[in-house]
Formats: sequence, structure tokens, C-alpha cells
Amino acid sequence: MEKTKFEYGLIKVKGHSGVKGNEEADRVAKNDTGKSTCITINDSQQKDLKYDLYWDGKRVDRHIRKFIDNLCGSALEASWSFNRTHRTIFQDTTHMIEEKVTWAIFKKNTGFNCTTTTVNNNFIKHLKLTNNLLPTLEIMKERRYDLYGDVKCRLCLVENEDDDHIIYCQQLRDKWLIMANNTINKCEQMFKDFLSKKEYIQLNQEDIQQLHLWNRNFFVHTTGFNQELPIPFVHLMLRNLFPKGRYRELRSIVKSEKATLTIASLFLEMFITEFYKVIWQSRCDIVADWERTKGIKKQDLRKKISAQQRIVYERIPTQQVEDGTYNLKGRKIFKCGEQWSVALEKTRQYINQFIKNGNRRVVKAFTKAI
Ligand SMILES: [Zn+2]
Repeated sequence: MEKTKFEYGLIKVKGHSGVKGNEEADRVAKNDTGKSTCITINDSQQKDLKYDLYWDGKRVDRHIRKFIDNLCGSALEASWSFNRTHRTIFQDTTHMIEEKVTWAIFKKNTGFNCTTTTVNNNFIKHLKLTNNLLPTLEIMKERRYDLYGDVKCRLCLVENEDDDHIIYCQQLRDKWLIMANNTINKCEQMFKDFLSKKEYIQLNQEDIQQLHLWNRNFFVHTTGFNQELPIPFVHLMLRNLFPKGRYRELRSIVKSEKATLTIASLFLEMFITEFYKVIWQSRCDIVADWERTKGIKKQDLRKKISAQQRIVYERIPTQQVEDGTYNLKGRKIFKCGEQWSVALEKTRQYINQFIKNGNRRVVKAFTKAI
């Protein structure tokens, strides 16, 4: 402002003072969608100013701030779907997961400016899982093929150890059952503490029993459950994704949305903590032993090797079929452009739906007025 020699002043406007612009701003802030235009300023000095917000050729008859919020939210969802590792699961799992819980966990672990090391470490743990970046042997091979060569999973010694193999490895099956049990037991204790603090949630005796039952039966096999998995939902929960069905059940027990979200994210967090403790830690101990016998040291891994020494290793095997590329589990791998159009179409539908609902409300109010 100083640069442009702009003259300015601040004037405090009293509430309800009858200043037209101020009254109008008040009206809009109170989410008055009954009027046909969003902001109308009738000022005697200027000509009547009328603002209409248009989106994709349609007038937005809603509270503008809410609309922008929603628009930003959808854009975030769309960009979320661009995440390389989610490209393959984007199409077949979005209807199975409750994204709110994932966001709740990430929000909990990100500070505005600085965070403590513990919070930061938690954040990294979740982030790595979400992006399939756990340093499995397959990832280590990609980085340093010269050191890791064709090493197989150190537990079964047969298959390549990628993040899927951690779920499917036969040698880890018992450990998965143990960690599922641990999760349930620890959550039971946590729910007891949670329920004892009456300010958070109030449930009658029957609901409390239902909640404990929900927890006890969380990993009980459901119909259509993929028998190859060691426990149900592990492929989702290991990516910080919470199964939608279980979320709905929980919601019908505790009623309040806020409490549902809190309990679900506590459960998911406990699951991840137990995963690191029971599965990942024990796997790492074994791999560390193997690395010692091979003479691979931590400082070797930090060193960068020259380009001509580097051996390229392609981790994800794919199959080329007529209409596109598929991974070995038969999931289509989108090209970036295709991903764009799917995501954009999703956003567009969502926003249009949102506008339509808004208009419906206005029409209702209008017909009532007549
Ligand atoms: Zn294995």
C-alpha cells in the first residue's frame, strides 16, 4: 500500500446501524438462501449493485462461503485421487472407505507450525503407510540393487517382499491375528476410559454393550470377505482407510457424528500402532540380521552411488491388455490424463448435486411464499 501511495482509512461500523452494505453482509452471513441473489447492495450513491455467483453455467443460490468450502473440499478430494499409489485402488475402493477418519488422523498429527518429535514420527508412520512407502525389501532393491540384489522375503524366503506381501505372507498370518486381538483389547480399555468421561459422550447401558460388541466383532469375518486376507479390512486399514460399513454401524450405536469420528480414528490409530509393534518391528529384526550377514551398513545406504553403477530395478510387474495396463491383481492402472478426467467428473457431479440441492431449497421457500 505504501508503494502505491494509496490513501486508506479504517472506519468502525456499529452493528445494526442501518448501513446498507453492512446489513447486507449480515444477511449473507446468516445463510439466508431464500433470496434469489446472493448479495444485493442498494446504495444511493452508487447504482444498485447485484452480484451473482455462477459456477459451470449455473447460478449458485447458496451461502457463498459454504459453497467455496465445498468446492475446495472437492478439489482436495480430486487431488487426493491423483496420488500415484492410490491410482490403482481409486476406482474400486472409494465406496468402501470412510475418508473422514483418514483426514481426522492426519489432522491430529499435523501441527500448524512446529510439532513434537513424537507427533512428527506418528505423522511419518501414517504417511508412509498411506503412500506405500514402507521400506520393504522391494523398495530397498529399487534404491540399491547393488546391495540387495534378488533378496526374497526373509520370512518365507520364497516371494518378493512388497507392501502387499506383508499382508499375504503365510509366515505372518499368526502375527496378524495377534495384532488384531491386541487392537481390540487395547481399544476396549480405551473405550472404558472414554465413556467414563461423561462430557464426551453419554450412552445408556444397552448402547455401551453394543459398542463393546462392535469392537469385539470388528475383525469377525463378514460375507464376501476375501479369504486370502489374514484378517478382514487389513488391506484398507493398513493404508489408513477405515471401512465404511463398520463406520455406519458405529454411527448407529453412538448416534453423534463427532463421537463416531473420534472412536473410529482412535481404533484406526491403535491398529496402526499395533501393526508397527507386532508385525513391522519383528520383520525388521529379522531383516537387520540378514543385512548384518551381508555386511550392509546404515552408512552405506546413505551414500549416493554414481549413475553408471546404478542398476535399475522395476518393482511393480504389470500386464498389458488391449484396453490398458493392469497390475497382477487385475486392477487397472490409470494414466495421469485418465485419472484427471475421472477425478474432475467426480468433482463436477458433486458440485452440481450441491447446487441442485440449493436450488431445490430456494424453490421450496419460494413456493411457500406464494
Ligand atoms: Zn514372505
